[in-house]
Amino acid sequence: MTLRRTEAHASNANETEALHIAAVDKAFARLGVLFDVHLQVSRGERVALLGPSGCGKTTLLRIIAGLEHADAGVVRIDGRIVAGPDVWVPPEQRGVGLVFQDYALFPHLNAATNVGFGLSKPAPTRVAELLALVGLSDKAEQFPHELSGGQQQRLALARALAPSPSLLLLDEPFSNLDVKLRHALRTQVADVVTALQTTTVLVTHDQQEAFLFADRVAVVLKGRVCQFAPPRELYTQPASLEVARFVGEANVLSGDADGQRCETALGTLTGRGDSGRVQVVVRPEQLRIVDGASPNATLARVQFAGTQSRLLVRVDGIEQQLAMTQPATASATSGARVCIEVSDTVSWFPHP
Ligand code: ATP
Repeated sequence: MTLRRTEAHASNANETEALHIAAVDKAFARLGVLFDVHLQVSRGERVALLGPSGCGKTTLLRIIAGLEHADAGVVRIDGRIVAGPDVWVPPEQRGVGLVFQDYALFPHLNAATNVGFGLSKPAPTRVAELLALVGLSDKAEQFPHELSGGQQQRLALARALAPSPSLLLLDEPFSNLDVKLRHALRTQVADVVTALQTTTVLVTHDQQEAFLFADRVAVVLKGRVCQFAPPRELYTQPASLEVARFVGEANVLSGDADGQRCETALGTLTGRGDSGRVQVVVRPEQLRIVDGASPNATLARVQFAGTQSRLLVRVDGIEQQLAMTQPATASATSGARVCIEVSDTVSWFPHP
């Protein structure tokens, strides 16, 4: 693809669209990393790119930022084409803020100067506002090495937000932090970008993080966006078995489906999917023990996990054990014969 610098605006850009990615391909040394990627993000939306290590999510983020060239396709930010056939806008002209896993702060500059670095002229009030926004007003004079990991990450966020980017890109920004801090900081960051109505794209391999942070999550598997949907929809209506397995725990049963009914070893289930021989996804919390009914399973293992117990169940006629959860207050004993049923509608997919 030949690229040249331009300020061109796409004539057909959607006014509410902050980011538009169309038909992006990328290979390194002929090894394909991204394949025909499409993504449309609305203004002010929080989006997560969720996928396992090596699936290409950081490469996609770098293509959006202009740190990497796509081999094909178009990237449009706020209606302006920034990369495409014959178009290339350099990173510093894309109006994009970046926060990385390793903070990338300037070690020789104090917190206030780090925040002010990206501003075209000195603006002490703006710097003070941003430090206040991320709860670091009292750390303005401190150097990065004098700050904790969480404080450094908040400082990196303030610096990225200083020039009021139209798009904020976060590459695994919480992964160096301990679990509690990660949770608190993720909530703070979500609050800050929501208050500023800054469109944000977060890269993560952590399903819970993606679900808690984002309005919509794009599941990236082997270089393809397999589904882009709100977290609840992804979880309850996965587009494929791969997505179902990636966005939560999935028991997979064989079944014969006809319309909205499917015959399985756990009885007739209702749900959605193609007709024929299928693989049925049952989430652990969709299984429950029915008191007093005739047994169809043995509890192979019962583990206490705090608010919940985790059970492994051997259902008659099914080879593999199924995982299920129930409130820790409910009684269950290893070895007990029980009746297990599916308490919800499920999804199924054609047998490969
Ligand atoms: P992680 O969560 O581990 O960071 P990721 O999903 O972000 O993974 P990418 O960093 O986008 O994955 O990498 C996708 C693939 O592209 C990997 O196989 C990686 O080795 C390869 N890759 C990335 N950058 C380059 C490069 N500059 N040169 C060659 N190969 C690269």
